[in-house]
Amino acid sequence: MTADTRADDLLSRIPTGVLVGGEWRDAAAGARIGVEDPATGKVLVEVADGDAADMAAALDAAAAAQPAWAATSPRSRAEILRRAFDEVIRRADEIAWLISSEMGKPLTEAAGEVRYGAEFLRWFSEETPRISGTWRRSPEGTSRLLTMKAPVGPTLMITPWNFPLAMATRKVAPAVAAGCTMVLKPSELTPLTSLLFADLMQDAGLPPGVLNVVTTSRAGDATMPLLRDPRLRKITFTGSTAVGKVLLSAASEQVLRTSMELGGNAPLLVFEDADLDTAVQGALDAKMRNVGQACTAANRMLVHESVADEFSRRLSSAMASLVVGPGTAAGIQVGPLIDARAVAKAERLLDHAVSDGGEVLTGGHALPGDGHFFEPTVVRAPGDAGFVQEEIFGPIAPVGTFTDNDEAIRLANSSPYGLASYVFSRDLSRVLDVVERLEFGMVGVNQGVISNAAAPFGGVKQSGLGREGGVEGIEEYLDTKYVGIAP
Ligand code: NAD
Repeated sequence: MTADTRADDLLSRIPTGVLVGGEWRDAAAGARIGVEDPATGKVLVEVADGDAADMAAALDAAAAAQPAWAATSPRSRAEILRRAFDEVIRRADEIAWLISSEMGKPLTEAAGEVRYGAEFLRWFSEETPRISGTWRRSPEGTSRLLTMKAPVGPTLMITPWNFPLAMATRKVAPAVAAGCTMVLKPSELTPLTSLLFADLMQDAGLPPGVLNVVTTSRAGDATMPLLRDPRLRKITFTGSTAVGKVLLSAASEQVLRTSMELGGNAPLLVFEDADLDTAVQGALDAKMRNVGQACTAANRMLVHESVADEFSRRLSSAMASLVVGPGTAAGIQVGPLIDARAVAKAERLLDHAVSDGGEVLTGGHALPGDGHFFEPTVVRAPGDAGFVQEEIFGPIAPVGTFTDNDEAIRLANSSPYGLASYVFSRDLSRVLDVVERLEFGMVGVNQGVISNAAAPFGGVKQSGLGREGGVEGIEEYLDTKYVGIAP
């Protein structure tokens, strides 16, 4: 088979309907949405364009499946997750190709996402049998106090386009572990990987109705009625802070459990004692993973004034040497941005930077031709420049300076976001001081990639509520019930 026929074969095997009660079917209104390849702008395949009726049917199925699913043994749920992990790893190459085709990231990065995304299936398969409670005596000695855990119940899951597999597994795996049923709404820009994953979960033994999937181009209209339905017990959302606020407000009506993984504005601090090679590599990793389209992407490089020129020179040279092109082609290090709007945003932010006196050291332009490509760019600008207050979500690395620890911390914390942050220094006592004072949910020390299925991923301030991954991740899908027993 040639590469083209392999691609056609895979695309023809992806279910493109809505998944309700274990059955794939057309959207109730029969509508379809085209899924584009961002490297060419061509439609890869069409999927169902569901609406509120499809969402309601999905919640009917999830609510009907919930009692029997909650009663399954932890071991049986663990084994479903473990089989799904094995299958994702066995099919890693084709899943990576699919991620790259619909989202744009280079194949090597897509393969990394497959490993990272699969790890949530393995991690939570191992956590499932460990769900437990506590026993204690009342201080007065008059009764026994027991706590036990129960699944929260039917959960609406809304995911973004930037990590089409990992954003789904980070939610689905702990929900399966805890015994919750689900309605998953993937991003309309990258639904194919989630559809393939849902099919694979069915094959791994997930009972009908436990995982339902509805793709839609009208996310607000389709999901809002669900938030008012008392059978829904939780919403977990990964996406922008603006949409998260709308959903939080709507979730208050039924007092839903909420997990919100929202936007970020990560500072990357380079102190004068840092190993500059490590810092430049860390900055490249933290900035250019996913072409900067990650909530953990370094949005602001803040560098001690004594090493800022050298750091900028080395970073510019590394950025300029990156190979840009379609993610599915061999040897590509930087793929396209997700769509034309993302390119326009990168141009707008860079214009803003330059009009405020910023100096472009390398890059600075969108690439002509098909697809949504933008050059890897480094711009010198003050650490508190206007344009860095926004999440860039593109391949632009602003480098600003600071004079001492206090200024570094002040600049780093001067954002309403508090997701990821990065510190480069070889001085342990400085690292500990800085780590304690950073108002962020996550800190990478001398490394630019910190996500790990075994770690609690999440933010503070307007970056969200709750944690995904780690021993903390399953708690988001469990309620605690207290039982007092008379002596
Ligand atoms: P987005 O908020 O536009 O969309 C996210 C999802 O919400 C999509 O599925 C979309 O269809 C849906 N949606 C949009 N409006 C909705 C509405 N009114 N009601 C219900 N659903 C709605 O975000 P995006 O552009 O897909 O993703 C980029 C954003 O996600 C960035 O801000 C990024 O920082 C954030 N993000 C956060 C994390 C994290 O873990 N904190 C991870 C990845 C991305």
